[in-house]
Amino acid sequence: MEWVERAPAKINLTLDVLYKREDGYHELEMIMSSVDLADHLTFTPLMEDRIEVYTNKAFLPVDKRNHVYQAIKLLKEKYQIPMGIKVDIDKQIPVAAGLGGGSTDAAATLRALNRIWDLQLSIEELIDIGMQIGTDVPYSIVGGTAFVSGSGENVRPIKDIPPCWVILAKPRISVSTRTVFRSLEIEAIDYTPKSKIVENAIEQNDYYEMTSHLSNALEAVTFERYPQLKQLKDRMLRYGLDGATMSGSGPTIIGFSRNYTRVKRVYNSLRGFCEEVYICRTLK
Ligand code: ATP
Repeated sequence: MEWVERAPAKINLTLDVLYKREDGYHELEMIMSSVDLADHLTFTPLMEDRIEVYTNKAFLPVDKRNHVYQAIKLLKEKYQIPMGIKVDIDKQIPVAAGLGGGSTDAAATLRALNRIWDLQLSIEELIDIGMQIGTDVPYSIVGGTAFVSGSGENVRPIKDIPPCWVILAKPRISVSTRTVFRSLEIEAIDYTPKSKIVENAIEQNDYYEMTSHLSNALEAVTFERYPQLKQLKDRMLRYGLDGATMSGSGPTIIGFSRNYTRVKRVYNSLRGFCEEVYICRTLK
């Protein structure tokens, strides 16, 4: 018997860094949404007590460094599961791209094993376990559009964003989230948090108010290191998208439009100099 679980990529419409906490983490506010670019994980229960992880991306580790492996191990230890599991990750989400690929795979694993092993864990219990793997895992357990705060552990679902197309453009650069946060000097950034404004816009179903307030405090760090990302964002706006911002710690830049002909044109223009470009819709 096999189980397949979809693990959608996430985008950040906003990422506000409010301050640095005493525990070293940053206090954040973010609006996140899931899109229809997704990994698919196939689970096969094993009678022997073994964890096997496979993936179509040869460069990804499949041992305890893989977030899926970590999720399995945490559940097995906490609930003393004597059976094993084999997981095949069909990876479609670009890695280290700001699209939460590892986190969504871990969340999909927790959701799937909760059913396969009949653990009957609540969303809150899954979130507690997910938090031990990574700060984006709690959001990925819930999915949809959400206001996320704390260092990622508080997830409050909000209305779906108004219907539109989202372009994801990822140049050939890999960014380490940890390095970006370490280099962030909050005092040096001059900006107003945008998450509540964007949440209100979404609640009012006001697409233009939403797209005119997209923002990401980490652009200050990532754009300084990779000026070509700022050029990419400017280019997307020049091509006529209604708003553009960096997702997560980058390098993916996301842009919005309601006009499919325009989206196709932008897609074709960007493909020349971006490693990967996707046209997506957000998921409920
Ligand atoms: P975030 O938006 O949460 O910062 P990201 O999209 O930038 O995440 P990931 O794709 O999650 O980054 O990859 C970050 C690191 O996690 C990579 O170095 C990768 O080797 C490791 N990793 C572990 N497990 C996975 C997985 N299942 N899928 C992708 N990356 C994984």
